Amino acid sequence: MSGRLTDVALRLREEFRRRGGSARFLLQQATGGPLDTLILTLLSQATNDGNASRAYAELRKRFPRWEDVLRADVDEIEDAIRVGGLGKSKARRIKEILERLENERGELSLDFLKGLSVREVMDYLTSFKGVGCKTAACVALFALGLDAFPVDTHILRVARRLGLVDPKATAEKAQETLSTGAPPGTNLELHLLLIDHGRRVCRARRPRCGVCPLQAVCAASNPAESGFSTSPR
Ligand code: SF4
Repeated sequence: MSGRLTDVALRLREEFRRRGGSARFLLQQATGGPLDTLILTLLSQATNDGNASRAYAELRKRFPRWEDVLRADVDEIEDAIRVGGLGKSKARRIKEILERLENERGELSLDFLKGLSVREVMDYLTSFKGVGCKTAACVALFALGLDAFPVDTHILRVARRLGLVDPKATAEKAQETLSTGAPPGTNLELHLLLIDHGRRVCRARRPRCGVCPLQAVCAASNPAESGFSTSPR
C-alpha cells in the first residue's frame, strides 16, 4: 500500500468512527448476488442512488424473477425502470444480458464468476454491451468480494486532489492504480469511505478543506511539497 494511501485510509476510518459511524454500516450497503448487483449498477448509470434503487425495486416488484424480466417486452421493462432515466437503452441492455446468459449458460445467474480472478471477471462482464469498467468492478467488489476498485466521479476527483493518482488520470487508470494500492480485503471499505468523503467534504465545488481530516496529506492543499500545480478550488 502506498504511504499516502495508507495515511488516507487511516485518517478517513478514524474520522468516520469519530462521527459515530461504523464501517459495518457502510458495508451493509453492499449486498446481493452478482446478477442482481450487475442490474442494479446498470440502473445506477447516469442517475443518483435514490432513483436507481427505486427503479430496481419497481423492476423486482413487477418481475420478481429474472426469468420474468427475460420474457417481458423491452417496453414493459422500460416502463418499470423509468424513474432511473435512460429507460429504453437500459431496458435493452438488461434484456440482452439475460438473453445471452440463457443462450450461453442455460441459466440466469452469474454465480459461475465466483472463484475467477478480477481480470477474468472484468473481461467477461465488459464483453456485455453497456457494461463498462466501473460497472464490472462494482460487481467484482460488492458481489464477488474481489479486490477491484470501482472509481466513480467522487473517487476520481478526491484521488486526483489527494495525489493518489495523476491529476489527469482517467477513471480507468485510477481504478487500476487504486485496486492494487490497498492491502487485500480493504478495497470495499476504502471505496465507500472515499465516496462518503467526496460527497460531504471534498465536494466538486468549494471543497471544505478547512475541516478536512486529510488536509495534511493532500497534494492539492500542499502543492509546494507535492509538485501539485492546481488549487482544489
Ligand atoms: S484538503 Fe481539500 S482538496 Fe484535499 S481532500 Fe480535503 S477537501 Fe479535498
